[in-house]
Amino acid sequence: METVNESSTLMLNAVQSSFPWNGRLGGLSPDNQVVIVGGVLAGLAASLSLSKAGFDVVLLEAANYLGGRVMQAQPFKGFGYFDLGEEFIHGSNTVVNKLALDNDWLILPAAHSGDEEEGEKNYYKGKFYSLSSNQPEIKVARDTWEEIISSRYNHQGNEDGSLSDSLYDRFQDKGLSQDVLDIIDYWKLRISAGSLKHYGVREGRRRMESKFEWGLGNCRLAESYSQLVKYYLNNTRDVDKRLNWQVKKIVWKDEDSHILNAGGRILLKNQHGEIITAKYVVITVPLTILKDRDITFVPELPADKSRAINRIQMLGV
Ligand SMILES: Cc1cc2nc3c(=O)[nH]c(=O)nc-3n(C[C@H](O)[C@H](O)[C@H](O)COP(=O)(O)OP(=O)(O)OC[C@H]3O[C@@H](n4cnc5c(N)ncnc54)[C@H](O)[C@@H]3O)c2cc1C
Repeated sequence: METVNESSTLMLNAVQSSFPWNGRLGGLSPDNQVVIVGGVLAGLAASLSLSKAGFDVVLLEAANYLGGRVMQAQPFKGFGYFDLGEEFIHGSNTVVNKLALDNDWLILPAAHSGDEEEGEKNYYKGKFYSLSSNQPEIKVARDTWEEIISSRYNHQGNEDGSLSDSLYDRFQDKGLSQDVLDIIDYWKLRISAGSLKHYGVREGRRRMESKFEWGLGNCRLAESYSQLVKYYLNNTRDVDKRLNWQVKKIVWKDEDSHILNAGGRILLKNQHGEIITAKYVVITVPLTILKDRDITFVPELPADKSRAINRIQMLGV
C-alpha cells in the first residue's frame, strides 16, 4: 500500500499512523531494534553478535533462503562435490580460524582436503592430474610459477627494474607453450577472476603474502563453509529471519536532516511496499547493489559515503 509521499517530511508519528506496520517492529517496539539487510555470512555473523549483545534483531534477505552461494553441487554423477561460492579461508588469523578452533572444526590445506586422490586437480587433455604430477606440461607450469612467483614473493625489492611486470610477458620470455600457459591460466588465475594477460607479477607475489600456518597455500573447512552457515543458523534461532524480503528503499532521515535514528526510526520498504522500522540498520548487500542504486536511500547517502562505495573495486588484477 503506497500511502507515503516520499518527499513529505517523515515525522515519526505521522509515519506510524500511515502504515500497516509489519511484524514486531511496529510503533510499540523498544528502542534497541536492528534490521540487518542480507542473509549470508556477514549478515548472519552480525545477527549473532548483535543478538548476543542484547539487540532485537530482524534479518531481511531478498532470496528465499539464507546462505547465498555457500552450497555444494555435484556436476555429474561420479564427480566430487564442489563449492559454488566461498571455499577457501584466506589466511590463518581469521574469524573462521578462530571459530574452527573453538568448535573443533577441521581445517585442511585446500589441496589436501581428505584423500590425496580427492585433492585439487587439473583437467588436461581428457585426464585429471594432481597438482604435484610429473606430467611434463603440468610440471613446467608448476616450476615456472614457483620460479617467478612463489620463490620470490618476499624478495620484491631485489627485482631487476627493467623486467616487465606482466606475467604473460615473463612467461613468453621463457618460451612456454600455449598448453602450459593455459594450465597456469586455469590453475592459478581462475580464482582471481583475472586472466594471464592482465595479471601482474607483483600482484601474483602480493597474493602469496597471506601467511598460513602450514606454509603457503589455501585452506578450507573440511566440511566446507556450509558448516559456518549451519553454525550461524543454529545460534541465531531467536533472530526474526524474513525471506523474499528485498529492501527497495531506506528512509533514514527526515527532510530537515534530523537523523531519524537520533530519536525516531529508520524505515525500510520492500518490493511489495511492506514496511519495517528499526532504530539501527546494518547493510551487508554486495557493493554492486549499492553502486547500481538498487536500494534507494532517502535522502541520498552523503557524498563521501557514495564516493567510497563507488571507489571500492573487486578486481582480480
Ligand atoms: C564464485 C565465488 C567464489 C568465491 N570464493 C571465495 C573463497 O574461496 N573464499 C572466500 O573467502 N570468499 C570467496 N568468495 C567471496 C565470498 O562469496 C564473499 O566474500 C561473501 O559471500 C561475502 O558475504 P556477504 O555476507 O558479505 O555478502 P553476500 O554473500 O553477497 O550476501 C549478500 C546477501 O544480500 C542479499 N541481498 C542483496 N540485495 C538485497 C536487498 N536489497 N534486500 C535484502 N537482501 C539483499 C543477497 O541476496 C545475498 O544473500 C567467492 C565468491 C564467489 C562469487
